[in-house]
Amino acid sequence: KVTQHIANANNKTLFSFEILPPLKGESITGLFKGIEPLMEFKPPFIDVTYHREEYVYKQRPNGFLEKITTRKRPGTVGICAAIMNRFHVDAVPHIICGGFSKEETENALIDLNFLGIDNVLALRGDAIKSEGVFVPEPDGHHYATELLGQITSMNKGQYLDEEMNAMYATDFCIGVAAYPEKHFEAPNLATDIKYLKRKIELGANYIVTQMFFDNQKYFDFVKRCREEGITVPIIPGLKPLTTRKQLNILPRIFHIDLPEVLAESIEACRTDADVRKVGVEWCISQSKELMAGGVPCLHYYSMGKSESVRQIASALF
Ligand code: FAD
Repeated sequence: KVTQHIANANNKTLFSFEILPPLKGESITGLFKGIEPLMEFKPPFIDVTYHREEYVYKQRPNGFLEKITTRKRPGTVGICAAIMNRFHVDAVPHIICGGFSKEETENALIDLNFLGIDNVLALRGDAIKSEGVFVPEPDGHHYATELLGQITSMNKGQYLDEEMNAMYATDFCIGVAAYPEKHFEAPNLATDIKYLKRKIELGANYIVTQMFFDNQKYFDFVKRCREEGITVPIIPGLKPLTTRKQLNILPRIFHIDLPEVLAESIEACRTDADVRKVGVEWCISQSKELMAGGVPCLHYYSMGKSESVRQIASALF
């Protein structure tokens, strides 16, 4: 379990990272190639994101456009099992509300339990791109809090008989997401933290943050969470910048700020190779300060491209 890894580390900062399933049609070999160079830094767990269906339009021979529902990056659960099998580390599948009825969620959790996967990151999930606003399934969950309720009720066991529960209840360690710069839909940070606290009260064991580029935002956020009585580990999520385009894309998609001095350094870069260098340097200095601040783990959003994360980990672990 992620929380046991943290406890066993005895205040040493752990290294972990997140990957995306490959695009449909691509092989898992490319994914393994991205993971292999990072194994020397001994990640105790690797997160695998979940991607819901999207709508695409295909032209029929008669000229009409047909709306097709497709998942571009399927395979989260299979990848988790393959990672555990191949690398002997724990894999943490992301479980989302979107696209799942409660029964489908229950079945997915049963699959994970049978596969020996003891960790999940419970999320609401992103909206379907073309819809823009998150729409739950008719019999699905609207918020991560509701999904958490379902997972913790499976952890308690669903039998009236206590002995049966002791044998058959699941035992997931549950992570949840948080946003040092506030979730974009929340009216303010205080409200967002109120719902985060509810996730912990419902049984979440640890928190992973959205990426941030200014450590002060993370430190202030942790302080506020602690003042509100949230005591679980808060793992910072970090992303090294790799392309110039990310200057505009990341704030738009993830609703985060890039510090002025970082933005200026990226703007001054002539090539993406220069950007990667600046991105790695920035991330190393962020990581060093966070380590000195006593964070339990540094969690990197590698997005399947391991070279920058490898360089950062080499400087730190
Ligand atoms: P919630 O905790 O449900 O919060 C969503 C919003 O509703 C917030 O504004 C919150 O303040 C508010 N809220 C929460 N509970 C309630 C309530 N009970 N009543 C009213 N309002 C409430 N997306 C994916 O699709 N796949 C992934 O694999 C994935 N991985 C992620 C990993 C991390 C570490 C992070 C930070 C995000 C990830 N996301 C992923 C994106 C995430 O799904 C989106 O940010 C989503 O919009 C919110 O998810 P959440 O679990 O934080 O939602």
